[in-house]
Amino acid sequence: MFTVAIVGRPNVGKSTLFNRLTRSRKAIVGNQPGITRDRLSETVNWDGKSFRVIDTGGVVPGEKEELPESVFRQAEIALEESDLVLMVVDGREGPTPVDESLHGLLRSGGREFLLVVNKMDVPSVDDHAYAFHSLGIEEFFPVSAEHSRGFDELLEAILERVPEGEPEGSDGEIRVAIIGRPNMGKSSLLNQLLGQERVIVSETPGTTRDSVDSVLETAGQRYRLVDTAGIRRKGKTSGMVEKLSMVMARRSIQRCDVVLLLIDATEGATRADATIGGYAHEAGKSLLLVVNKWDLIERDAFTAIRLEKEYRMKLKFLDYAPLVFVSARTGQRVFKLLEHVQRAYQARRLRVPTAELNQFLQREVQPRLQAASPRRKFPVVYGSQVAVDPPTFVLFTRSRQKMHFSVERFLVNRLRERYGFYATPLVVRQRLRAPRKR
Ligand code: GDP
Repeated sequence: MFTVAIVGRPNVGKSTLFNRLTRSRKAIVGNQPGITRDRLSETVNWDGKSFRVIDTGGVVPGEKEELPESVFRQAEIALEESDLVLMVVDGREGPTPVDESLHGLLRSGGREFLLVVNKMDVPSVDDHAYAFHSLGIEEFFPVSAEHSRGFDELLEAILERVPEGEPEGSDGEIRVAIIGRPNMGKSSLLNQLLGQERVIVSETPGTTRDSVDSVLETAGQRYRLVDTAGIRRKGKTSGMVEKLSMVMARRSIQRCDVVLLLIDATEGATRADATIGGYAHEAGKSLLLVVNKWDLIERDAFTAIRLEKEYRMKLKFLDYAPLVFVSARTGQRVFKLLEHVQRAYQARRLRVPTAELNQFLQREVQPRLQAASPRRKFPVVYGSQVAVDPPTFVLFTRSRQKMHFSVERFLVNRLRERYGFYATPLVVRQRLRAPRKR
């Protein structure tokens, strides 16, 4: 969703502005004493468009002022996670050195920003706003968050920038793609899922003319099985079918939240399976490795463990994806799949609060990294989860040097250990912490 972040130094009225924009009275979310207030976020629906507003102000309870340092920090994070930044200044004070540095930071960030001059409670004060011309900004928005003045213009300017047809926030429907090579049992699995009595099924047109989704609802949860028409259609020649199934897989992956990658238990994982899994991984989708035709396997108590080992070896880079053994023919564990899907969906929308994340980085990750290589300084200054779906972390580092792969891997593993992120790939990006003038 189009995201608007509010940044600015302390006491310029960021929270009041946030409340005005979102028309809410919610000011502070930190519900536990001692926990740093994290960023507030709220969706605004206006004129058939939706956007999300984030208030970046991070106040440590017990401290009156945000430290300028944290102002910059929040601004850097805002640049990462938003499409538009509202820089708020106090119109009664004119530009301060902190404003100027902040403006420099935003300008170098390459993200569009609007200057909002707040506390313009009476029209005559507008004159002072011109002092902000010294920042080299031609257009700005004088507002009074307190008296709700100037908001029509600001809101209009924001809406102008929100693209048409932005998808509304998810309505809780989980989009699932069943993919895999031909004859893995995709149609059979689909029929099992849709054929159950307790399921409400409907076919709804998907995005293109020849695509049909099936919607099923069970236990209060809606699942949209994407592109199911393609699953049922059988091709002519096997070479053709193979190619087509790859094209289908890629498209379905784009349209879903969770991928069910079907593998034939009698064949084991092949390179083609790994390739398809790679598509899901690169697209940042949650992934379940569904080993089908379990009924055909001669089993003893160790079969599952042995097979799992084998699959893990062949699909090493998909180590976060749970392996589920099912039989689409008998229906064994087929409905259990939906529980996994639900868990994965929740995981991919999990958001770790910034304060909490940084505490975790400083207290638990840094000491272990330093113990592992005492001579090297922990390169991460701070971090933020800038997006969900998939969970995306930006780590601001002191050095330009690219984080070593092993460090990144270590971080990802610790994040998983701590927060789970079931069946979901994590994206980690490194940013050089912006140098700033004193
Ligand atoms: P698709 O091409 O991936 O859609 O695969 P299909 O669903 O058409 O299945 C291919 C073949 O495998 C069919 O003959 C199915 O009956 C069979 N099949 C699918 N799932 C299972 C299963 O769990 N057990 C067994 N024994 N056969 C299965």
